[in-house]
Amino acid sequence: MFDYSAAFDAAVTQVKDEGRYRVFADLKRVRGQFPKAIRRREDGSEQDVIVWCSNDYLGMGQHPAVLDAMQAEIEAVGAGAGGTRNISGTTRSAVDLEAELAEWHAKEAALLFTSGYVANEATLTTLQRILPGLIVFSDSLNHASMIAGIRNGGCERHIYAHNDLVHLEALLAAAPVDAPKLIAFESVYSMDGDIADLKGTIALAHKYGAMTYLDEVHAVGLYGARGAGVAERDGVQDQIDIIECTLGKAIGVMGGYIAASTAIVDAIRSWAAGFIFTTSLPPALTAGALASVRWLKTHPELREAHQERAATLKQRFAAAGIPVLPSVSHIVPVHVGDPVHCKMISDMLLENHGVYVQPINYPTVPKGTERLRFTPSPNHTDAMMDDLVKAMDRLWTHCNVARMPAAA
Ligand SMILES: *Cc1c(COP(=O)(O)O)cnc(C)c1O
Repeated sequence: MFDYSAAFDAAVTQVKDEGRYRVFADLKRVRGQFPKAIRRREDGSEQDVIVWCSNDYLGMGQHPAVLDAMQAEIEAVGAGAGGTRNISGTTRSAVDLEAELAEWHAKEAALLFTSGYVANEATLTTLQRILPGLIVFSDSLNHASMIAGIRNGGCERHIYAHNDLVHLEALLAAAPVDAPKLIAFESVYSMDGDIADLKGTIALAHKYGAMTYLDEVHAVGLYGARGAGVAERDGVQDQIDIIECTLGKAIGVMGGYIAASTAIVDAIRSWAAGFIFTTSLPPALTAGALASVRWLKTHPELREAHQERAATLKQRFAAAGIPVLPSVSHIVPVHVGDPVHCKMISDMLLENHGVYVQPINYPTVPKGTERLRFTPSPNHTDAMMDDLVKAMDRLWTHCNVARMPAAA
């Protein structure tokens, strides 16, 4: 008979052989002390750590306005939504949140999903059902959830070189003029910290009659005067057809959504299995996200502090000869260049220095570009940076990893 356990063992062995086996850090975040957390080791002992790789970019996951709203909502309406959106699960705070999100992105409507992953997967799959013959043009570094949605629909698809508008235009020009087309891309790419040329992409979309689908997961809350993302910053919100975001990163809670025209949202709402056949988000989550979005809209100083912290950390690494990759965003990637050192440095940072930063290895990034990805928040102090830079400097020497010429 079939040996099931050997098959599972082989699957894990393969991942280990490829250096992709993941060990999770067991963390207990401490309310009011972000980015501090308590790590539990495998032997059960505990260690205080500073989290340097959280996607809770602004610490909104612990913001009093968010926590108060969540607690009040639990007191008022209880735990779960109690159903799908269609069958008793359309809660008041979900409806209010969708209105708030639509207004934020200057769109007619918004639609919640249980995560950003589901929002991408469900929407991109469904667009292909609504638009038969759709041809999708997808940036080569798009997130796994976008790739999953594009593949699931089974449409013709073309991958263009990352942020390469010349390549994108060549692909668009080669497609039939009258075919429906969709350009799917992100604003901030989270591994390199570069930002797409929104205006240039939109110009091509107009020229070749394509729709635009923009993932602003790593930008929402962080860019633009009211924090709606890079499309707001660049003044092009009205020219992107579908904006997709998460409630789980800078907004600090959980969930995902799209914002678009009433017609698009109504069609996705009516056709997307990943929206229809699943229980709605718990009201405490949507109430917390609503409070977070309202706060973010009116507090640009948080975004300024965030950018200042990122710029300061980049400068401090560069001054120490630590090879920061050229990021134009809040992401601070440091080049290591091989998976063994990358893992070794992050293990030593954690065990010996209480610095938690996850190593980023293949297949998340190409081989030879293994890196540590730091995400400083407004709550990361100068003293924390002193400790971090000192520890990195020591480990760079200890592990004999290449430096870059110290900045003048
Ligand atoms: C994290 C991420 C998502 C998924 O969002 P979740 O809410 O975490 O499921 C989608 N797109 C990109 C680019 C992401 O980094």
